[in-house]
Amino acid sequence: MSIQFFTILSAFIMVGSCATTKYTTKIENQKKAITIIDTALVSHYAKSITIPELKTHLTIYASDSLEGRATGEEGQKKAANYLKHIYKEQHIASPIADSVYFQVVPESFLPEGTGTSENVLAYIPGSEKPEEVLIISAHLDHVGVTNGEIYNGADDDGSGTVAILEIAQAFKQAALDGHAPKRSVLFLHVTGEEIGLYGSRFYTEHPVFPLKNTIADLNIDMIGRVDDKHASNPNYIYLIGSNRLSNDLHFISEKVNDTYFNFDLDYTFNQDNDPNRFYYRSDHYNFAKHNIPIIFYFNGTHQDYHQPTDTVDKINFKLLQKRAQYVFATAWQLANQAQRPRLNNDDN
Ligand SMILES: [Zn+2]
Repeated sequence: MSIQFFTILSAFIMVGSCATTKYTTKIENQKKAITIIDTALVSHYAKSITIPELKTHLTIYASDSLEGRATGEEGQKKAANYLKHIYKEQHIASPIADSVYFQVVPESFLPEGTGTSENVLAYIPGSEKPEEVLIISAHLDHVGVTNGEIYNGADDDGSGTVAILEIAQAFKQAALDGHAPKRSVLFLHVTGEEIGLYGSRFYTEHPVFPLKNTIADLNIDMIGRVDDKHASNPNYIYLIGSNRLSNDLHFISEKVNDTYFNFDLDYTFNQDNDPNRFYYRSDHYNFAKHNIPIIFYFNGTHQDYHQPTDTVDKINFKLLQKRAQYVFATAWQLANQAQRPRLNNDDN
């Protein structure tokens, strides 16, 4: 009896420890298997993301004439037209149809009283796997005007919006020089975020590229400021969601950071029990719920969050530039490496 008991018990211990070792080894191997590619090209094209250009775009995008970009209103239409104008000017195509940059989000899809709105889409076609797509997203809308005060939304989400314009320009320049991404890269400016993530939900229900071919979504929502916690060390960014669906994506993101940037990556808001529930609160969530790996890039909240004082003069452009370059370098790796990031439950 006792011998058998011990035999059975030790067999259990063996199984337990083997499984754990196997799991740890698998994760370690997964991490080691990632090789950061094209470092010279990435460094070169990242330099095209400049402070003066970010500033020029954001000074217009967060100006009073756009009236806080409330979904369906005149100011939001101006915002959408500005984005379209920039893409056309830079000969960055639309994936919908020639020169059709707007994906119309009809009034019937939006909350009552909200007028028809639009997502803005532009893309760089992939050179080897054009049917697979990496999405870089940011919301184009903000909260509009209240009691005569304009909510300019320079950080929320003017910062993410102009970062995408600069990232798109960097990919375009590379493509013109013969270094088009192997997979397609879609620049997705979604509307209706502030009223309930409507534009991203509309896109995922009417995707231009099939969702199963969508390898990841890198969502940028507020990357131009510094929160109180990091006032003395602003070289940081919060990452949310990177490991939830794909450890591959998480390790790629970390290795890209180690290779080029050395940000202090803050995962505080990625905790399952985080009371802010930021994972569910921006557009990436509409992709995550379809099992598409995501990263949400975020600077945290500050006293001007959703206030008329979220203005362009308070943006830290040096930091905005570096964070945009980080997203660009991560996007380059994802669009060009041999294998798309695997889901954690994939056994291959
Ligand atoms: Zn936002």
